[in-house]
Amino acid sequence: MITVGVNLATSQAAVALAVKYGDLYAAVGIHPHEAVNASPQDMDELRRLCLHPKVIGVGETGLDWRRCLSPRQAQLDAFAAHLALAAEVDLPLIIHNREADADVLAMLRATPGVRGVLHAYSSDETTAEAAVALGFHISFAGPLTYKNAETTRRVARALPLERLLLETDCPSLPPVPYRGQRNEPAHVGLIAVELARLRETTVALIASATTHNACDLFGLPTAGAV
Ligand SMILES: [Zn+2]
Repeated sequence: MITVGVNLATSQAAVALAVKYGDLYAAVGIHPHEAVNASPQDMDELRRLCLHPKVIGVGETGLDWRRCLSPRQAQLDAFAAHLALAAEVDLPLIIHNREADADVLAMLRATPGVRGVLHAYSSDETTAEAAVALGFHISFAGPLTYKNAETTRRVARALPLERLLLETDCPSLPPVPYRGQRNEPAHVGLIAVELARLRETTVALIASATTHNACDLFGLPTAGAV
């Protein structure tokens, strides 16, 4: 299980939790919503945290043109800094993309050699296929179970299984029937059930494939039978 920071304080907290629990790993980063508050010193501290053995990824990072809680330029600068950091320390990225498909893809293409996942995927097939062609993975969260998420379900049916990951994005995006409540890591099984239904396969196969994919992408010790 990976817990993901959204600013310096939560990145430090994620590392501390990962130290405490053997099967927990941490990603460190500054979410686009928080980009306006990020300082060069914060990036230095993230770089230092990346050297910790329980830190397996850089993120969250990315672009959010839907809510734009940070000015666009601050988001672009922070995302560029995270891409450079991921390339430097050779860790995968956990990328947040909301209505910023063209800019996210352009920035990934501009940083050859980076890898990672587009998390809580909400864009269309064209962007997913472009990301997969660049070597990226696609991760699904609770919205896969939402009534209005037909596009997301189409993407989930179409992509190669070896590029798919599951997440909860808790405390956000609880799957049906937990909408309106705080999301929990324990609900990840419901995303697996929905993905298995969409791909007309078994939950056991989805669980083992996505676990294998996550271990492979993030360099985690391979889990036993799921
Ligand atoms: Zn996100």
